Amino acid sequence: GKGAAMVTAVAYRLAERSHQIAQTLSEFRLTTQQLLEVKKRMRTEIQNGLSKSTQDSATVKMLPTFVQSTPDGTENGDFLALDLGGTNFRVLLVKIRSGKRRSVEMHNKIYAIPLEVMQGTGEELFDHIVQCISDFLDYMGMKNTRLPLGFTFSFPCRQTSLDAGILVTWTKGFKATDCEGEDVVGLLREAIKRREEFDLDVVAVVNDTVGTMMTCAYEEPTCEIGLIAGTGSNACYMEEMKNIEMIEGDEGQMCINMEWGAFGDNGCLDDIRTDYDCSVDEFSLNPGKQRYEKMCSGMYLGEIVRNILIDLTKRGFLFRGQISETLKTRGIFETKFLSQIESDRLALLQVRSILQHLGLDSTCDDSIIVKEVCGAVSHRAAQLCGAGMAAVVDKIRENRGLDHLNITVGVDGTLYKLHPHFSGIMHQTVKELAPQCDVNFLLSEDGSGKGAALITAVGCRLRQELNN
Ligand code: BGC
Ligand code: MG
Repeated sequence: GKGAAMVTAVAYRLAERSHQIAQTLSEFRLTTQQLLEVKKRMRTEIQNGLSKSTQDSATVKMLPTFVQSTPDGTENGDFLALDLGGTNFRVLLVKIRSGKRRSVEMHNKIYAIPLEVMQGTGEELFDHIVQCISDFLDYMGMKNTRLPLGFTFSFPCRQTSLDAGILVTWTKGFKATDCEGEDVVGLLREAIKRREEFDLDVVAVVNDTVGTMMTCAYEEPTCEIGLIAGTGSNACYMEEMKNIEMIEGDEGQMCINMEWGAFGDNGCLDDIRTDYDCSVDEFSLNPGKQRYEKMCSGMYLGEIVRNILIDLTKRGFLFRGQISETLKTRGIFETKFLSQIESDRLALLQVRSILQHLGLDSTCDDSIIVKEVCGAVSHRAAQLCGAGMAAVVDKIRENRGLDHLNITVGVDGTLYKLHPHFSGIMHQTVKELAPQCDVNFLLSEDGSGKGAALITAVGCRLRQELNN
């Protein structure tokens, strides 16, 4: 009768809806073949970044860091460190003791960087940084000590020495004027001078990946790679000097800051980018740039999710077809919310309450779909990150002419640490795509600040050796 026909119609609509949703999310599923292709392309871009003839136009810039060895335990002294460019801005005091009872003791304070400072003038930004240092020195009662400082600055910098780095381009949420093309150590020194309150000896500018690698290498000598899977995405590793064509000399190694976030900026990932990726890129602070980062890192995953949810809502599959003001708000899905939504321990009711908390009224069905969307996006992110890492470990293995490589990667970043599945999927992908490597991932607690201090210690020692 009529009732049965209606039930059939509803069932049909539901089936059609789940088919359409599955279809949409299938764009995020990558085959092993595709992932191997991503690995191969990353390898090509690595080569382009290292070679003299191609490096000017290379998207993966492979920037020399002037860090030529990992720590050996002889590092010693008290250092200040700044950590700018991750989820938090921090100032740290790091006390490193060498010898039999070697140890690292840290004190740190987190400071906010207001959006208008991140995106204001360079002078305002650096004045704010120095203001925070001033507060920290007061807090520690150290205004009158002139400590050596390591500056973890988590953006692409072209370095000409340990203590000089020209900002190539801002990434993530930063866009302060008059900084790109400038030496950020110079900008920091000038801001310290302007304040006329204390003096500091800036010894090193350090990428967060490099700090992370150094911190892990301090405990684990097989660590020769650093990885950040957080607000942004990037890696560094120890490369053979003879392969670094823009640096004189063939002996030994140097750490290379890959800046792999820019992978794909020449269009080489276009075949796997979805319309959602393109629209996240288009409305970002840096359209066209950091395309791989925008598929892999915490700052953008929530935005991809939001774009999919808007589309599904427009098509009538979600939120009763109503696009709320909240859903139109950029940045609502922070890494910590995605991580909560995807937690296996969470009942659907709790997913609904997280959505409610974000201002999204959902039915039970809605919450199932939202969770699926989050899963598809973060799964792909972890796989892509793993494909990049597979390229790096195989490059190192080949550098050394080995059939088999054992290596440790020092890792940090909110996505890696908070997300319930990201790390596992990433590890699994590396295993599958680089079967000749045994890759051990080591979480680096507080990696970038501690690492900056370790590098500063080495910098101070080298400087003394030069002076003697
Ligand atoms: C920056 C890198 C940094 C990474 C992780 C990227 O946006 O370009 O320098 O290492 O984020 O913080
Ligand atoms: Mg060379």
